[in-house]
Amino acid sequence: MYGAVIHAPGDVRYEERPEPTIMKPTDAVIRVVAACVCGSDLWRYRGISPVPKPTPIGHEYCGVVEAVGDAVTTVKPGDFVVGGFNPCDNTCAACRKGATANCLNAAQYEGCQAEKLRVPLADGTLVATPEMPADDLIPSILALSDVMCTGWHAAVSAGVGPGKSVAVVGDGAVGLCAVLAAVQLGAQKVIAMSRHEARQKVATAFGAKHIVAERGDEGIAAIQALTDGIGADCVLECVGTEDARLQASGAVRVGGSIGLVGVPHGDLPVEQFFWKNIGIKGGPANCRAYLPHLLELVLSRTINPGIVFDLELPLSEIAEAYAAMDERRAIKSLVRPSA
Ligand SMILES: [Zn+2]
Repeated sequence: MYGAVIHAPGDVRYEERPEPTIMKPTDAVIRVVAACVCGSDLWRYRGISPVPKPTPIGHEYCGVVEAVGDAVTTVKPGDFVVGGFNPCDNTCAACRKGATANCLNAAQYEGCQAEKLRVPLADGTLVATPEMPADDLIPSILALSDVMCTGWHAAVSAGVGPGKSVAVVGDGAVGLCAVLAAVQLGAQKVIAMSRHEARQKVATAFGAKHIVAERGDEGIAAIQALTDGIGADCVLECVGTEDARLQASGAVRVGGSIGLVGVPHGDLPVEQFFWKNIGIKGGPANCRAYLPHLLELVLSRTINPGIVFDLELPLSEIAEAYAAMDERRAIKSLVRPSA
């Protein structure tokens, strides 16, 4: 079978890889229907995180189960399934608290941008749809594998709820999904920070009432002007850079809270958080905990996070899928193995 392998910064190749097989009784093997490139894949693509050796890449997927191990009981061959980017057993003490991203028995994928994929801990990780979903729902289901759950996690971590004002830092796919999550969770006023017209349009479609194009001190002033001069109750930081965290700490009100889901690079401005009494919470998303509810919202067409995909390519053109995102020609690239 074929899949994507990152060899070095800027060098992702479509190449033959070993056919995945059931290695443990808790595994499933699925035929990937759609996969995508993540903003966090770009850290290696851009040489910010190391690539010590050629490595299969990708952690977002949905597809059809082809085989299951003897111990798997909740999914069967033929089921259409989606799983989060962090496989979990969904039964350990941490998972039972909803902390599925920190499963005590956590496992990893070996490159989801591929024709086939071995899913470890299949019972805990995968959620099946009741029937084969309509093709136009595939992008939104795929978005649940990471970006929508991560945006949701930002909002949940920051305590977004009815009546809250929310500012979202970052207009990548996660930031846009965080806008959608904040609206779904009942926020009264959602402010998206974005300078790019295409991304502003998606934010507005997801329910953002205000767009702030300015950054830095001007951006903070614009958010304060929309929030009684004090800043937003909740700020969702969906980038991961030190600049983004400074933007978040400036945009949040005193006593407010920040949901942090951008993979952190650089320092955390702890002093600013301290003097403003800011709460901060976040990390990798508890996808499995959120998946059933979010899948229901997608299947009932209540939410359509799939519109963050503005480029669709065959898996064989994975190199272009990366380049387009790296050069910000695409918000997020979806790839489909040829049938
Ligand atoms: Zn667990």
